[in-house]
Amino acid sequence: MVKAIVGANWGDEGKGKITDMMAQEADIVVRFQGGANAGHTIVNDYGKFALHTLPSGVFYSHVTNIIGNGVALNIPLLFKEIRSLVERSVPSPKLLVSDRAQIVMPYHILLDQYEEERLGGKSFGSTKSGIAPFYSDKYAKIGFQVSELFDEEILREKTQRVCELKNVLFEHLYHKPVIKPEELLETLHGYRDMVAPFVCDVSVFLDKALKEGKTVLLEGQLGTLKDPDHGIYPMVTSSSTLAAFGAIGAGLPPYEIGQIVTVCKAYSSAVGAGAFVSELFGDEAEELRRRGGDGGEYGATTGRPRRVGWFDCVASRYGCRMQGTTDVAFTVLDVLGYLDEIPVCVGYEIDGEVTTDFPVTSRLSKAKPVFEKLPGWKCEIRGIRKYEELPENCRKYIEFIEERIGYPITMVSNGPGREDIIYRESPLAR
Ligand code: GDP
Repeated sequence: MVKAIVGANWGDEGKGKITDMMAQEADIVVRFQGGANAGHTIVNDYGKFALHTLPSGVFYSHVTNIIGNGVALNIPLLFKEIRSLVERSVPSPKLLVSDRAQIVMPYHILLDQYEEERLGGKSFGSTKSGIAPFYSDKYAKIGFQVSELFDEEILREKTQRVCELKNVLFEHLYHKPVIKPEELLETLHGYRDMVAPFVCDVSVFLDKALKEGKTVLLEGQLGTLKDPDHGIYPMVTSSSTLAAFGAIGAGLPPYEIGQIVTVCKAYSSAVGAGAFVSELFGDEAEELRRRGGDGGEYGATTGRPRRVGWFDCVASRYGCRMQGTTDVAFTVLDVLGYLDEIPVCVGYEIDGEVTTDFPVTSRLSKAKPVFEKLPGWKCEIRGIRKYEELPENCRKYIEFIEERIGYPITMVSNGPGREDIIYRESPLAR
């Protein structure tokens, strides 16, 4: 059985926590896209961790963690992350790296930084971790696969060829020092030695595991609205954030994905630029940001303050639909306990008309939120484990949103820890 855990919105919905929780009963956790440009925050018995590349199953000794072929693999960062876990008494995780995963090269990171510098105020708000240049090269067919690290001839020839090409940009567009093929080759030899013990033909491994009845989790990064095709292009990431891509980015048949858990936060938050219709500003925003997440809404990788807003039914309904949601995990609900009433965005007004369908980017910029206000519950809900024990207004909030998004909320998360979860029978469950 394969289960995907993905985000409905802009990311930071709490996928890491849900994956860590679901990994208790899984055998394998696979990262299938993205790179070290975003992070998952996980709070468990070992403490609080921000993971960037490692799958969220690394805290269990029974879980095999896999870096799938769809990931942008930054090898030195991966090993730095493993060391940071081991230093904090987490047992060294079981890890496999796909021989088809491609490598984030030092020049990808430089290109990302230089390009943001060049664009100045018109930049995309990149995290400068080389992700866009990496995926551009992958699809331009000049990327380096992990398997190629083990073929000296290919490596030599390619480093030479790639340096010629990149140096044109470094020299003439960015006016920066050029890269030397010999140095790059040496760096790649270092990468080869680090990654060698973990390299695996992942699709064969997964095929066998599925035949043996193992449970596989596919862990997404970011959310629907950051998908390059279905998100708020161009303010998106460079790899697909959709569960459907999980099959490609892990290397398994799409029909094996039997459950798609779409994580949806009880209010909205976003890092980086781009349309955000239900966004809040001023004191109201500051208060939600301060109280939000676990210790405030600040990016797990970048530390950047997140933009925050009220729950957006239009974006979330779309976000869930594009994921192919079977279950919604509704997270960070405990944070809203301070509010007398809670506005929820139920529609977008565009050119005088109200719609509940999420529009393309050019129309999205004209959208104004239509809010409905729901009464708050004004109390702490952390520690509650049964749905019926939640305050009535809290249940009404969940049920209102479930009805508006049209997908079953079967899990409610009321705290950052593994045990902070309420399972719920939904009238919409299939
Ligand atoms: P991800 O990228 O989707 O995994 O999300 P992040 O980890 O970047 O952000 C989610 C934040 O919310 C983290 O700080 C989590 O520890 C925290 N979190 C997750 N679920 C809950 C919850 O139910 N309540 C609270 N208060 N915090 C939560």
